[in-house]
Amino acid sequence: MRRIGLLGGMSWESSIEYERLINQGVREQLGGTHSADLVIRSYDFAAIEALQAAGEWDAMGDLLASDARQLERSGAEVIALCTNTMHRVAGRIEQALDAAEFVHIGDATAGAVMSVGIACVGLVGTRYTMEHDFLSSRLTSNGIEVLIPDEPDRTMIHHTIYDELVRGVIDNASRRRMVEAIDALRGRGATGVIAGCTEIELLVGPDDIDAAYFPTARLHAAAIVERCLTVSASEHHGDR
Ligand code: GLU
Repeated sequence: MRRIGLLGGMSWESSIEYERLINQGVREQLGGTHSADLVIRSYDFAAIEALQAAGEWDAMGDLLASDARQLERSGAEVIALCTNTMHRVAGRIEQALDAAEFVHIGDATAGAVMSVGIACVGLVGTRYTMEHDFLSSRLTSNGIEVLIPDEPDRTMIHHTIYDELVRGVIDNASRRRMVEAIDALRGRGATGVIAGCTEIELLVGPDDIDAAYFPTARLHAAAIVERCLTVSASEHHGDR
């Protein structure tokens, strides 16, 4: 089993789910008392949020790249970033890594959407994720159409994430509004919806909506488990 390095705390409300899901996944695959071999770098989200609001994406890219290298020096062979939004700077992390494998949340999500043959999918997430293409391009490049909510739903979703979900607030009225925004995307032709923010699946579950549901944290965690159980070249060599 390869060691996992997680860049988390964005927010810890969802990172803690990643840790739980990854450990459960490893136990399901290996049985017994097995659990994941992992190292976590968890940030103070207030500092990250301030950098996002200031548009300091280069600074955040440098910070995450440097910490990803640190995880690699700690022995991590599989690196993952536990947030959709910060994948805006995923390229910097990938460039900084020496030999570790970076598991991109967009690839895990696109794989799941393609596996059920959906041609048009809705995307809800932070404003950064909805209005830029760093996530949606992973789908559109595979021929999948991606719809994002109209205003004022984008603003409502963004505020629900930053004012409630990353602070641990789960509110029924917000769930209803989120489901209505998702229903509007279905009305425009989406037959599936991507919970493109790792906290949205803490608020909305598959039973809340009448469409195929793609919860990115859950899909990403499953991909991380799959990759950490893939035998590395050096382990394979050592077996012989
Ligand atoms: N975890 C969220 C996401 O998946 C939002 C928090 C952040 O800005 O990183 O996009």
